Amino acid sequence: MDLVTVRTVRTPSHRDDLALAPGEQPLAGGTWLYSEEQPDLTGLVDLTTLGWPDTERLPGVLRIGATCTIATLLRTAPDPGWHAWPLVEQCANALLASFKVWTAATVGGNVATALPAGAITALLVTLDATAVVWTPDGGERALPVAELVTGPRTTALLPGEVIRAFDVPETALAATTGYRRVSLSPHGRTGALVTARWSAAGSVLVVTGATPRPLVLRLPDAPDAADVDARLAAHADWYDDPHGSPDWRRAVSRSFAAELLDERAGAHDTTDGGAR
Ligand SMILES: Cc1cc2nc3c(=O)[nH]c(=O)nc-3n(C[C@H](O)[C@H](O)[C@H](O)COP(=O)(O)OP(=O)(O)OC[C@H]3O[C@@H](n4cnc5c(N)ncnc54)[C@H](O)[C@@H]3O)c2cc1C
Repeated sequence: MDLVTVRTVRTPSHRDDLALAPGEQPLAGGTWLYSEEQPDLTGLVDLTTLGWPDTERLPGVLRIGATCTIATLLRTAPDPGWHAWPLVEQCANALLASFKVWTAATVGGNVATALPAGAITALLVTLDATAVVWTPDGGERALPVAELVTGPRTTALLPGEVIRAFDVPETALAATTGYRRVSLSPHGRTGALVTARWSAAGSVLVVTGATPRPLVLRLPDAPDAADVDARLAAHADWYDDPHGSPDWRRAVSRSFAAELLDERAGAHDTTDGGAR
């Protein structure tokens, strides 16, 4: 759709040109920005002209540039030990968006849009990723992605802050993962997405889609299914929109969590040394 209030589109080549003026917003793939009216928007600042690398290998970390598209991330060749990599494709497919949208939509744009059905957010939270945030004074701060998305369309980003990248620890990439998703119709938006990461360094169960913001359950080495179920049953904040009622979302999330714990127990029994 035409963004009729936009008067300027800037294409910075250096960080110095990035400072956001009142009324300006970062533009990444534009797949959300151009999908609805933006009445308060007067200017766009195109992040894709800054030339950030899509991915970089840093010590102990895979750095994913915020402007890396979902399609490019899918084409990235994993290292042999990255057992968690199938979760990238699973989460990409959890988006309502087709492969045509993947070629423009960015990893950072998905997180910054902060929709409950933000499956790339689910991916990064499950992999314990940290967001590298550029602050308007020229500095930078690090923030777990789990704390960055605070609710539907709200984030912990302060005015003028921009997500530069996401750092994914290689220890998380080496872990085993689990995935369950449901929507009310075959091609509908995610009603509930439950993802898991099992590792000796710590296990985690993450609920998105069903909750306004990612719900993260840190689990002990040998998680107790009844305890996990009780924690989900006691959780009060379930999302309510045309893609599912809160009661249904809680019920399917509990059921998926039980299935993933069973799956993990099976892997633990059949592989030498248990889940990675
Ligand atoms: C058919 C269709 C289906 C979709 N299905 C889904 C879905 O199932 N789940 C879902 O979550 N989304 C969905 N979307 C919405 C959108 O496509 C995705 O969220 C996408 O990942 C947004 O990325 P983008 O690069 O296009 O962001 P843009 O549209 O460019 O930007 C989105 C917002 O994020 C801000 N932003 C972007 N990058 C940064 C950054 N680095 N730092 C700070 N702020 C930034 C922008 O200012 C803007 O407010 C869908 C869109 C379409 C068209």
